[in-house]
Amino acid sequence: MFETLKKATLDKIFVLMAEYAADPRDGKIDLGVGVDKDPKGVTPVMSSVKKAEQRILDSAKTKTYKGVVGNKEFSAAIVDLALGGVVDNKRIRCVNGAGGTGALSILMNVLGRARPKGRIFISDPSWPNHWPMAELAGLTPVYYPYFDHKTRIVDFPAMLAALDTLTSDDIVLLHGCCHNPTGASLTNAQWDEVVESLKRTGAFPLVDLAYLGFGDGLEADAYGVRKVVSSVPESMVAFSASKNFGLYRERAGVAIAIARDSDSADVVSSQMQNVIRATISQTPDHGAEIVRVILEDKDLRAEWEAELTEMRERMKRLRVKLADAIRQRSNSKDFDFIAEHTGMFSLLGLPEDVVTKLKLDDGVYMINDSRINVAGIPEDRIGELADKMLAAIR
Ligand code: PMP
Repeated sequence: MFETLKKATLDKIFVLMAEYAADPRDGKIDLGVGVDKDPKGVTPVMSSVKKAEQRILDSAKTKTYKGVVGNKEFSAAIVDLALGGVVDNKRIRCVNGAGGTGALSILMNVLGRARPKGRIFISDPSWPNHWPMAELAGLTPVYYPYFDHKTRIVDFPAMLAALDTLTSDDIVLLHGCCHNPTGASLTNAQWDEVVESLKRTGAFPLVDLAYLGFGDGLEADAYGVRKVVSSVPESMVAFSASKNFGLYRERAGVAIAIARDSDSADVVSSQMQNVIRATISQTPDHGAEIVRVILEDKDLRAEWEAELTEMRERMKRLRVKLADAIRQRSNSKDFDFIAEHTGMFSLLGLPEDVVTKLKLDDGVYMINDSRINVAGIPEDRIGELADKMLAAIR
C-alpha cells in the first residue's frame, strides 16, 4: 500500500521550529512561529483564561458529546464579537471548528461541494496553509496580487484590478485584519473598494479572521469583515480564538456562514454539519467553553480585553523600537514599514541568503521568505537584533 506514496513536504514553519529547538546557542532568537511571548520567551496562559478554566473545572458535571454544531453559546458570542450585529441572525449559521484551521476547512469543504473545482482566489503571498487546504477541499486555488515587494505595502491597484476580473462562480479569500505573512493590511477605504468590487462581480467572499484585536483593537479590526458581510448577500467567516485568547493548542474556532435567508442558511448549516460528521464527528469543546465563559461574564471579559490590549500594545511598541533602531543605525527609512504594519507579522523583504546567514551565523530564526513574528522580538535586545540584521544585509 504505502509504496505508492511519496514523502510529503512539511510546512516550512515546522522545519524551522525543529531547527530552532536543536540549536544549542544561548542567545538564539526565535522570530518564526506566530505565538505571543513574554520577555522570557514563554507563551503565557492569559489570566482571564486561567480563571475561566477554574470555573469550568469547579462546575463541570459531564464530558459527554456536545452535538455536531458544537458550543452554540460560544458561536453566538463570537458572532456578536466579530460581526457586531450588522447582519440579521436569521441569516447566520455557525458550527465550531477545531481552531481557525478547522473552521476554514469546514467552510472550504462546503464551498467545494457548492462549486466543485471552483476557483478560490488567495492573496499572493498568504498563510501557506490556505493553498493546500483549498486543494484538499476540491477547489482550485489561484493567486491575486497583494503585496508590493518594493514599498512593503498592499499593491492595491493590482489587487483591485484582479478582483474586478472575477465572476459570480469565484470565491475570494480575504484576511479580515493583520495580514499573514506580510503585516500589510487593507485600510478602511480599501475595504470599501473591495466590497464595491464584490458587488460588481458577485464573487463570493470568505473572510479569514485569525487575529481580531491584534491590529488596532477589537472594533477597529472588525471594520472589514463587518463591511463585507453587511454588503453582500452571501459570505463566510472563519474565526480563530487561538491567538487573541492565547488558546493555541485548545483548537477553538467558529465557522460562520451568512446566507441570503433563513431557509438557505439551514441548507448551508446541514452541509457544514455533514462535513463535521464525516471528518471528526464532534469538535473539541474545552477552548470553546473557556471563550464562552469569558465573553459572557462582564468582569472576565473586561480582564481579557485588557490583556489583549496589552499584547497588542507590546507588539506595536516592538515594531516602533525595531524600526527606530534600524533607522538610527542605517540612516535610512528602508525599514520604517515595520512600524506601519499591523498584527503579528512583517515580511521584511530580505533575500533568502540573508535569512540563512542570520540563522547560521547569528541564531536569528525567521521564515525563508523573511517573515518575522513581531511578538518574538526580545525587547531588551532590539539594538543587537538591528545590528545583526544590518550586518547580514551588507
Ligand atoms: N488563518 C491564518 C491567516 C493564520 O495565520 C492562522 C494561524 N496561523 C490560522 C488561520 C489558523 O489558526 P488556528 O488553526 O491555530 O486557530
